[in-house]
This record gives sequence, C-alpha cells and structure tokens, in this order.
Amino acid sequence: MDRVAVGAIIDGKQFAAGLLADIKLEVESLKEKTGKTPGLAVVLVGADPASAVYVGSKHRQTIAAGMQSFKYELPADTSQDELMALIDRLNVDPEVHGILVQLPLPAHLDTHAVIQEINPDKDVDGFHVSNAGRLSTGQPALVPCTPVGCLMLLKDRLGSDLSGLHAVVIGKSNIVGKPMAQLLLAENCTVTVVHSRTKNTPELCRAADILVVAAGRPGLVRGDWIKPGAVVIDVGINRIEADGKSRIVGDVAFDEAGHAAAITPVPGGVGPMTIACLLSNTLTAFCRQHSVTID
Ligand code: NAD
Repeated sequence: MDRVAVGAIIDGKQFAAGLLADIKLEVESLKEKTGKTPGLAVVLVGADPASAVYVGSKHRQTIAAGMQSFKYELPADTSQDELMALIDRLNVDPEVHGILVQLPLPAHLDTHAVIQEINPDKDVDGFHVSNAGRLSTGQPALVPCTPVGCLMLLKDRLGSDLSGLHAVVIGKSNIVGKPMAQLLLAENCTVTVVHSRTKNTPELCRAADILVVAAGRPGLVRGDWIKPGAVVIDVGINRIEADGKSRIVGDVAFDEAGHAAAITPVPGGVGPMTIACLLSNTLTAFCRQHSVTID
C-alpha cells in the first residue's frame, strides 16, 4: 500500500498560524475603527488537567491575537446558581463579546442548562440551540469551531466550490458530526452521515469524495474504505499505548491512506484549527454586536 506523499498531507498547524496572523491584523483594524477591543471570556470549573491546559492555551492565544481575555477559574464545588449568575453577568458585560464554558463540567452541574444560559450572540462555541437552529436553517450563526476549521481545510484543498461532491461524515455528535454535515449541506454537497449503528459503513465511505471522520475510534477507517483521490479529514484524537509509549492518533489508519488526494495528520491537522476558529468566531461575534464588517 502506498504511503501518504508529503504533498498530500494537510498541514493544519501552518494553516492555523496563517489564520491567527490574519485575525491579529483584523483585530488591530477593528480597534482603530471602533475604539473597542474584542474580548473573550473563558470559564473553567474544577481542576481537570486537560481542561486547564486547553483554557491556558486559549487565554494565551487570545492575548497574542490582540484581544482581551477574561479567564474565570471556579472551584469544583461551584453551584449551578453561581455558574448561571456568572454567565448572566458576562451576557451583559459590554467588554465581553464571546463566552466559552470549558467542557466537561463537573457531574453535579447541568451542562445543557449552562450552555442555554449563554447569550446566543456571544456563544462562540456555537453549542446553543439557537445557533444550531440558525445553522440548519441557513441563518447567520456562530458555528462550532472544529467543523468550521475542517471546512476551511477542505476548501483550501478543493477550492471554494464543493457543490455536488459526495461528503461522508462519520459521527453525529452535536459538537462535530451534525454541524459538519450542516456546513457541507450548505456548500451543496451530497451528505451522508454515518454513525455507530450504520450497517454498511465501509461501503458508504468508499463512495465519498470528502470523508470527515469524528468517531473517537483509533484506526477505524482502513485504507480500503477510502476512495482513490478522496480528501480525508481526521478529527479523531485518541491516546494509545504502543511499545511502552503513549501517543496520539486519529481515527484513520494514516499509513494505509496513500491513495487519498489529501489527508490531515493527527496531531497537526484539525487540532490546531480549533482555537484559531474560536478566535475567528469571537471576531464574528464582535462585528455583529457592533454592526461593523471586517475589511
Ligand atoms: P462523540 O463520542 O460525541 O461522538 C462520536 C460519534 O462517532 C457518535 O456519533 C458515534 O455514533 C460515532 N461512532 C462511534 N463509533 C463508531 C463506529 N465504529 N462507526 C461509525 N461511527 C461511530 O465524539 P465527538 O465529540 O464528536 O468527537 C469525536 C472525535 O473527535 C473524538 O476523538 C474527539 O476527541 C475528537 N475531537 C477533536 C477535536 C479537535 O479539535 N481536533 C474537537 C472535538 C472532538
């Protein structure tokens, strides 16, 4: 089986760096235009180590982009009422244009209620039902960051016109699979969504011009599931132990994908795009709240 050629590897790290540089320039121009600075509030409840790393990284990159970052680190025993009260304050704070509550929340908190409390116009994660509804009905929405990043990578490879292509999305979560399918539909792709109860998954995948995989199952997609010339976006992040070492792999058997036209590696593919798209969503939210456009 052919190995993936260097030119077929979609470098998400490099693409995200370019996007962040563009965002920084846009922030400068918006500050001049409005006299205001876009601001992102990130709320962390408890001390989950992975969540703390993500929040730290979001904070640093927000500052690096020239935006204001408001970091709230609350104790693990924070009550539902206390968390809701913080969100209510952030909802009306004119300095805050985007609000993100880091998930997962401790088990005693009602995640759905917390997300629905966020003002949809500040919901930069795009998880509020209003944003899901706006996306699925073609209204201007804040769209979950990971699928937005996947679409950017796809268009970078395939050009801006994806119409008529057959896209297969593996996974139907509210965070990745469903919004990804909606975005591809909005691009006039023919979209098939595959999930854990689908009966003929390999056969469906073999028909895909675009294959987006978000199952959280290491090596799920084998080489013979991929149509020659397809573009493959591997969203999966799985930690596996091999040869006494721990490493991160995706959902696609990367070494078997040499006949794909292009594929994202894991790590270094979709992952770096997510924070860049979060900042892009914060800019979008700022522009809508202040009725300005980006030049
Ligand atoms: P999830 O567990 O909520 O959903 C997984 C989906 O995959 C489900 O719809 C399930 O039906 C489907 N699935 C599971 N096993 C399957 C199988 N054998 N065949 C077909 N479908 C199957 O997960 P999620 O939140 O959507 O995340 C999916 C993966 O993407 C995870 O590995 C996660 O870590 C990763 N992820 C990465 C980023 C990023 O920034 N790169 C962001 C979000 C999620």
